[in-house]
Amino acid sequence: MSEKTPAIQVEGLTVKAGEKYLLKDIGFELYSGDVLGLIGETGSGKTVLIDAIGRNTAPGLSMKADKLCCFIDGKETDLLQKKEEELAATVWGKKMTFILSNARSRFSPIMTVGEQFINILKSNQDMTDKQAAQKVQEMFSLVQMPDPKQNMNNYPHELSGGMIQRVEIAIALAMSPKFLLADEPTMGLDVTVQRQILDLMDGLFKKSSSSVILATRDLGIAANYCNKVLVLYNGEIVEFSDVHSFFENPRHPYSRYLLEIAFVSNDKDPKAKQRVFRSQKDKGMNGCFCSGSCERAQEECLTKHPQIHLFSDGSFVRCGRY
Ligand code: SF4
Repeated sequence: MSEKTPAIQVEGLTVKAGEKYLLKDIGFELYSGDVLGLIGETGSGKTVLIDAIGRNTAPGLSMKADKLCCFIDGKETDLLQKKEEELAATVWGKKMTFILSNARSRFSPIMTVGEQFINILKSNQDMTDKQAAQKVQEMFSLVQMPDPKQNMNNYPHELSGGMIQRVEIAIALAMSPKFLLADEPTMGLDVTVQRQILDLMDGLFKKSSSSVILATRDLGIAANYCNKVLVLYNGEIVEFSDVHSFFENPRHPYSRYLLEIAFVSNDKDPKAKQRVFRSQKDKGMNGCFCSGSCERAQEECLTKHPQIHLFSDGSFVRCGRY
């Protein structure tokens, strides 16, 4: 069996807004070719984690970590130590690309999307204007952009949200990055287009053994396109495992809840979709946030915050009873 090549290592990552924790003590490791599905409800910390790993946190947030690195051409690159200019010159774009959920804000309103795409291509690859323009058209066709030639000449405000998203995806794919950090990349797109784009990304990234972190609320996307899953709740990791174990035998009651609301059919259980997870924290209690609804809960679950339990295969769960 071939040795796994490390791709991304995160240890003790914490992000705060003032005194409030947005992420707390996050740690996991990915290997070359891994596609990690980052799962959690709105506000769980998915976007903050994507931003933090890419060293792209919003102004005003403070971040620290014991380790935050990626491996570029087999060499460990300490993302924490790099200044923004260094990241822009050596990591972002060329090696690490983002698909952000607020795609429109990334584009300048005073240039056409085609001009901006061409500039990105030319600053990262050795291309003439003509070659870059041709590449833009090719990539627009790949992501099913209607009338690629015409839409190249449009300004961002002239494109719908779905079209802007396709431009963003087209740029990310054109870069052939070693690392892709994608925040709900196909949300809002028509289901057929969504599937076509995800299939395309899947094929391209498998070919280049890229490592992908894909934040999604759609567990069907995680099941079909990811090989690992990380569940977040309130800025903390709840569970990390390979995709088969997660879907066949989720270890944490919160993971089971997410699966239940995602996949139990309305016919079998009409109330499933309306069921709301009641965290004990909402009631001002310490201890495990699941203690009110967990069938394995014991006295100490009410008062003691559970630590991570690590299994021999590298998966882990936040539960004090393993
Ligand atoms: S710590 Fe206790 S309440 Fe929380 S998941 Fe484990 S057994 Fe259940």
